[in-house]
Amino acid sequence: MPADLPRAGAELQARLGDATDPDNPLGYRAVVAADERGETLPEGERALDDYALNAEFVPRSLGGRFTQADRFAVTLRTVFRRDPVLGLGYGVSSFIGAVPVWTSGNPDQRRWLADLLLGNGRVAAGYTELAHGGDFSRASLRATRQENRFVISGGKQLISNVARARALTLFARTDDAPGSRSHSHLLVDLASVPADRLLRSRRFPTSGMRGLLLGGVEFHDCAVPADSLVGELGAGIETVLKAFQVTRSVFPGMATGVLDTQLRLATRFALARTLYGRPVADLPQARTVLIEAFLDLLISDCLATVAARALHVLPTQTSVYAAAVKYLVPILLHEANYNLSTLLGARSYLREGPYAVFQKNTRDLPVAMLAHASGAACQATVIAQLPRLASRSWLTAEAPPPLLFRLDEPLPELDFTQLSLSAKGADSLSATLLVSRDDADEASMEPELAALCGHFAAELSDLKAQCEALPPRERLATAGPASFDLVDRYATVLAANACFGVWRHNQDHRSQFLRGTPWVVAVLRRLAERLDAGPAPGAAHGLEQPLFGELRARHDEGRSFDLSDSPVAG
Ligand SMILES: Cc1cc2nc3c(=O)[nH]c(=O)nc-3n(C[C@H](O)[C@H](O)[C@H](O)COP(=O)(O)OP(=O)(O)OC[C@H]3O[C@@H](n4cnc5c(N)ncnc54)[C@H](O)[C@@H]3O)c2cc1C
Repeated sequence: MPADLPRAGAELQARLGDATDPDNPLGYRAVVAADERGETLPEGERALDDYALNAEFVPRSLGGRFTQADRFAVTLRTVFRRDPVLGLGYGVSSFIGAVPVWTSGNPDQRRWLADLLLGNGRVAAGYTELAHGGDFSRASLRATRQENRFVISGGKQLISNVARARALTLFARTDDAPGSRSHSHLLVDLASVPADRLLRSRRFPTSGMRGLLLGGVEFHDCAVPADSLVGELGAGIETVLKAFQVTRSVFPGMATGVLDTQLRLATRFALARTLYGRPVADLPQARTVLIEAFLDLLISDCLATVAARALHVLPTQTSVYAAAVKYLVPILLHEANYNLSTLLGARSYLREGPYAVFQKNTRDLPVAMLAHASGAACQATVIAQLPRLASRSWLTAEAPPPLLFRLDEPLPELDFTQLSLSAKGADSLSATLLVSRDDADEASMEPELAALCGHFAAELSDLKAQCEALPPRERLATAGPASFDLVDRYATVLAANACFGVWRHNQDHRSQFLRGTPWVVAVLRRLAERLDAGPAPGAAHGLEQPLFGELRARHDEGRSFDLSDSPVAG
């Protein structure tokens, strides 16, 4: 674990206090009550203001605390563990609005936005139009250039915090021509536009994330200065493709905090509840559900952490990894949460009592995970790159540098300008597992681990053949289900590589559990099951003791279930 991780997380954790204390104004009882009222927890927002959480979103070079993407995700995970509405509503939505400015803004825009955030101001990310959804190339809100100004007309919907944000990063059509050079970003100071030209319209109620302030905004011939333009005129899609690599890599890693909470609640329940004369946790099936959720959390964290570190180590390859994370991690979190809900039974629905926050998180998780791109949109991003990845990298690329996986190793500050529009066929991560072909490595590995590596190498070989043979019409966002399935399999292979790399390159880690083989064998089995969907002995088979022992110890000692293994309260 990086040296300053516990400090950042521990300080935030201390401010949030004991989650289970009914008198804690930031505890679960208060979080559930705010959800019932459809509010973002006001005391939570004040606590995050006091902590200056916004400084996490601002690069260190501009006076903030953002240097390293994986550490940022772990810090924000502390907030998601307590309440995803605070995590997204207070936090990440401002980050999503800010990154296009860090990526493409000029020094004055970067300074202005950094100062705004460091003064606890908010920025909203104005992309979605309900008429066009994730198809940004058709966004129709228009900004027309007139001498020294832009005149904006049109609306955006489902925009977090737009009713109270000072700044709006606005994705606007600046050219009528179809294609990828017709949109631009504007950084709009909402406090200085004429009030009669701007309508911050209605709120959109949601089934989960009920406290999130999702709103709409309508511009009516609203003039803003020409220097609102972020980056070049017509470079909007280019900026999106770069900036979203950062946000899509870190956001799912933060959301693993929700599963961490759900697993803690389910474990507590299973240890306390007695059935057939023994704790539910002693029933083999219930124990397996807990262990598999633990494995899913570790898989999600490995993939998200490695993708976040890749932004620093392999910045030209991350367009693919970011999309794979934003596609696969939400699915793993959903499935694990569903399984835990079957274990919790009736209590998973109750809106009161010690487990009430479980039903809130269950409603929040799918809504939160849809924010900032659906899984299908992420798959579509990868589909277009599959044939080149297959022919240029798979089975032939060099393995990535160990730094990609070394959890304690600091990274240089993220350089947003290094990100590339596409990976151009480069993919080193998928070569991590291929070390099993090396005799020396194979000899030092447990036979089952070596066999699992061989299994994923064979899968990559099969994927390579299929992706190289994809006909042109199947290489587009409009491809059929078979191409989408290839992305699912490829993302699973990438996750296996990330898990294996984290295990292999942290053999000097302070955590004995992380150094050991049970977890890595179990997560690779689980991912292999995901690929084959055939009868299997089960991911945890024969490994129940070390895996449940670790889960139980972390639960009893108040430690998180993720790679950071950091203190949690309640
Ligand atoms: C909690 C929350 C917060 C949000 N905050 C913001 C915000 O602050 N700013 C903002 O701009 N937006 C925000 N949004 C909007 C969000 O970004 C969009 O809802 C999201 O991009 C997904 O779009 P969609 O699935 O609703 O729509 P669509 O893109 O219309 O998709 C419709 C359906 O088509 C599928 N689909 C999409 N593309 C493809 C494809 N190529 N091939 C096959 N199927 C496809 C989708 O999976 C979906 O099933 C927020 C949404 C939520 C839920």
